[in-house]
Amino acid sequence: MISFYPGPSKVYEQIPKYVQEAYDKGIVSINHRSEEFVEISQKTILLLKEKLNIPDNYTIFFVSSATECWEIIAQSLIKNKSQHYYNGAFGEKWYEYTKKLTPSIEEVPFNLETFLIPQKSDADVICITQNETSNGTAISNEIIAEVKQKNPDAILAVDATSSMGGVALNFSNADVWFASVQKCFGLPAGLAIMICSPQAIERAIELNRNTHYNSLTFMIDKMRVYQTPFTPNVLSIYLLMRTLMHRESISIIDTQLKTRYNQWITMIDSYNGFNHLIKNMDVHSTTVIPIASTFEQIKTIKQKAKVEGFLLGNGYGEWAKNTFRIANFPAITDEEIQNLHSFLLQQLK
Ligand SMILES: *Cc1c(COP(=O)(O)O)cnc(C)c1O
Repeated sequence: MISFYPGPSKVYEQIPKYVQEAYDKGIVSINHRSEEFVEISQKTILLLKEKLNIPDNYTIFFVSSATECWEIIAQSLIKNKSQHYYNGAFGEKWYEYTKKLTPSIEEVPFNLETFLIPQKSDADVICITQNETSNGTAISNEIIAEVKQKNPDAILAVDATSSMGGVALNFSNADVWFASVQKCFGLPAGLAIMICSPQAIERAIELNRNTHYNSLTFMIDKMRVYQTPFTPNVLSIYLLMRTLMHRESISIIDTQLKTRYNQWITMIDSYNGFNHLIKNMDVHSTTVIPIASTFEQIKTIKQKAKVEGFLLGNGYGEWAKNTFRIANFPAITDEEIQNLHSFLLQQLK
């Protein structure tokens, strides 16, 4: 079965080999205060910065999920008020989640066929979901830069869970970026990375919140020596390091995925009765492709695909029944895409 689910998705084919290697080298049993761990952690961070073009003065943390990052941001970075732009289920969830943790909050829903329009705000944390996994829309680097320019004193936090590692993000445009590894990084779930600008670190230190096990102040202290306050997912960090060692730089991967996205658009055009969920191509995500049709057609195609060994992603939230989603993630090969396309073409001509 090949998983085209947009997370958890297909993992890199080298994963079994790297897991065996980690076992053979004793890495699965190392202490997280040991020199061996520090070496792996430091190398992983250096590789992330190098391969993803993350500014040197940004700090990278290891946490367990993107959802945990929502919580850390609410508990450690919001002074009085947060503002949430969203046009889909993940952005809305982040808003709903934060509402329970923070005194003052503002939502800015926007239409999924239109661009996010940056506003000036009195919020001290602004939240954007860069790649909306539920509906296949994305926010450009330019728009993110514009939000920050309009609100230089606010901490701009960006959920890039289904794009980081697949899209060339301009990290210097925002203060907090996060993603879990089961999407574009092609790894098993259970690890997330959170990337903070000097301004975000300053805010955390200024607020000095220290009432949670994952308060940012604790994490900052430990990360000075490349450690974490809790015992982290060492195996997953190792797998991240090993896959990054063989990864192309993000500009190359970004171009590859854009090419594949364009191929998908042409392919979808040839499927009778099926369309991309979003008409406006300028807001399309390149990594998550939602394909819409009737309830009946969607149900049938998903079932038939499964029999043939292709796992298609279910639709999400309000699009659960009239779409299926396809991950356009780096670990998926051209051949696998070709096979899925041949199958869909056969069914839908
Ligand atoms: C998958 C996803 C999440 C949730 O990730 P977890 O690792 O399950 O916490 C959050 N935001 C977006 C945009 C996602 O795609």
